[in-house]
Amino acid sequence: MIEFIDVTKEYPNGTVALRDVNLHIAPREFVFVVGASGAGKSTFLKLLLHEEVPTSGSIRVGRFDLNELTQRQIPMFRRQLGVVFQDFRLISSMDVYDNIAFAMRVVGAKEKAIRERVNYLLQLVGLSLKIHCKPSELSGGEQQRVAIARALANMPDLIIADEPTGNIDPRMSQELLDLFVRLNEAGTTVVMVTHAHNLVRQYNKRIIILESGVVAADGGLRQAPAQPQGNAWSPAKPWQAPEPAIGRYEAM
Ligand code: ADP
Repeated sequence: MIEFIDVTKEYPNGTVALRDVNLHIAPREFVFVVGASGAGKSTFLKLLLHEEVPTSGSIRVGRFDLNELTQRQIPMFRRQLGVVFQDFRLISSMDVYDNIAFAMRVVGAKEKAIRERVNYLLQLVGLSLKIHCKPSELSGGEQQRVAIARALANMPDLIIADEPTGNIDPRMSQELLDLFVRLNEAGTTVVMVTHAHNLVRQYNKRIIILESGVVAADGGLRQAPAQPQGNAWSPAKPWQAPEPAIGRYEAM
C-alpha cells in the first residue's frame, strides 16, 4: 500500500527533515507513526500526500509512484486517500450532511447515492441525530467523527490521520481510536500520526518511531491483514462492514 525507498527530504534552508527512510506498509495494516516535535512526522505526511516531494528516493502509494505522478493523475491519487486532521477542517457554514456530501459532489456523485451514503456513514460514526447541525453546534469529538465520515465518503483504501485526537479529551480520544480500529478491521489501511503515546500503547499495532528524521524503531507487522482484498466502505459489499455505532455514542 505504501512504500518509502531511501527517502530523504531536505528543505531549501538545508534542514534535513527525513533521512534515508525505508518503510513498507501493507494493505490493511494499522500503523501508528510517533515521534517528538521536530522528528519529521509532518514531513512524512506531506510526502505521503504529495504536498512535498522527496529530495531523493521514491515513494509509492497504492498504484501510484509519486515521482511519476502527473498533474492529471493528482485528483485520482488523492481520491484513494481519506485524510483526517487534528483541527477537523469542516466547513463552518455547512451542516453535517453537506460537509460529508460535499466530498462526494466534487467527484460527481449523484444526489441519491450521496443521500444513502451520508446516512450510512452517520450511522457508522453514531451521529445520525446531528445531521442538520452546524460544526459549531458539535463537541470536538463529534466534529472529528464528522471529519472521519467525510474522509470515508469516497470509499478510500487508505485513511491518513494527522494527530486526530490532538484536540479531543482523553475519553473521547479512546472512542475515536476504537472507531479507527473498526474501520481498519473492515478493510481500510490506517496510518495515524500521533503524540498520544499512552493511547497508542493500549493497542497491539505496529508503531513506527521517528527520531531526528530517521526511523528509530519499527514494530513490524503485528497482525496479519484481516481480509485478502479490497475495502469495506460500501455497505453493499458481501462481507460485513462494521456495525454502525448508533446508540453507542448517542446514548452518552
Ligand atoms: P514534526 O511534525 O515531527 O514536528 P516536521 O516534519 O514538522 O516534524 O519537521 C522536521 C524538521 O524539519 C524540523 O527540524 C523542522 O524545523 C524542519 N522543517 C519542517 N518544515 C520545514 C520547512 N518548510 N522548511 C524548513 N524546515 C522545515
